[in-house]
Amino acid sequence: MLQPESIAVASGRPARTHRAPVNTPIVLSAPFHHGPDDNYYLRQGSSDTIRSLEEAIGDLEGGKAVAFASGMAAIAAVVEGQPAGTIAVVPREGYNVTGSIFAAQAKLGRMTVREVDVTDTDEVLAALPGATLVWLESPTNPLLGIADIPVLVDAAHAVGAVVCMDSTFNTPLVLRPLDFGVDIVAHSATKYLAGHSDALIGALITRDPVLDEAMHGRRDMTGAMPGALECFLTLRGLRTLPLRMERAQANALELATRLSKHPAVARVRYPGLPDDPWHERATRLHRGYGAMVSFEVAGTDEDAEQVCHSVELIVHATSLGAVETLIERRARYAVDAARGTPGTLLRMSVGIEHVDDLWADLSQALASSG
Ligand code: PLP
Repeated sequence: MLQPESIAVASGRPARTHRAPVNTPIVLSAPFHHGPDDNYYLRQGSSDTIRSLEEAIGDLEGGKAVAFASGMAAIAAVVEGQPAGTIAVVPREGYNVTGSIFAAQAKLGRMTVREVDVTDTDEVLAALPGATLVWLESPTNPLLGIADIPVLVDAAHAVGAVVCMDSTFNTPLVLRPLDFGVDIVAHSATKYLAGHSDALIGALITRDPVLDEAMHGRRDMTGAMPGALECFLTLRGLRTLPLRMERAQANALELATRLSKHPAVARVRYPGLPDDPWHERATRLHRGYGAMVSFEVAGTDEDAEQVCHSVELIVHATSLGAVETLIERRARYAVDAARGTPGTLLRMSVGIEHVDDLWADLSQALASSG
């Protein structure tokens, strides 16, 4: 069995035959020539470009992957594929559009949604009786709390629920949820897996052949196939995922440490800091602390917003997981503000630039606030 660094480079390649390409080509065709008894069409049949990416993501997560047109298309395939009458336990603090998909199902009368703080094990356990689906997102977004995944998975399975975890913030380098018994892993591959802010793409991964078939079925039926160029770019991005994660995580720890001593910063949330409330859990469960850092600016919401407008190297934009460092004030979104995200909190996706340049930029931006 290869190490993840080698899987990222070697998986999803064409067969090693004479003069075959080393990279899977971008296949741009919707129909394919008929054989005697098949009807081969991209939506049902997929393509080598899509399959190569799926092989690599599946190998990294330790399961079988199905690639989708976006992270949301992947998440919708799971949520909207649940039978009517589903009782779902979902994170109160998670990606807000995932919350909207569950809310839409509840509004249609198809689902009962129980919101919980996934970092509070007792609260999750209390919500489980009768549940058929448990949705996990850890670290939480944007407060970066860590759920006790193995305990929650065992308890969810004990009541017969399927567990799906959005592991976008982790990447398979930091956590492989299937190893803890999670049934389906969801990724916005738009983020770390692709890694360059140039593709919108998603994936679901499972070890269960029945779930694999159901996920394929929903994607093919709804036409949520990823584009060929996006698959190529994502697979190309994946080749350097371990290197990018190594640098981004080292930068994140260094910036979190420096920010925690900065007079213009009231609080830093990063599980890699020894005094972070989630440090013990992350150390026990994860292989690294990720590259997302949230911090609260000392001052007003406007001071925090000003930091975002003052950065020059760091990019003021939503999204995460790219080579460039991105920052935003999450409470700028009404739905985040409504659920109590502090108005002074900035969420930073740390990239792979030189850490001293990032620090110089943050320092000048913090100096311009307040
Ligand atoms: N899950 C998480 C944790 C995200 O941050 C996002 C996007 O920001 C998504 C899912 C949705 O992914 P996509 O933008 O690829 O549809």
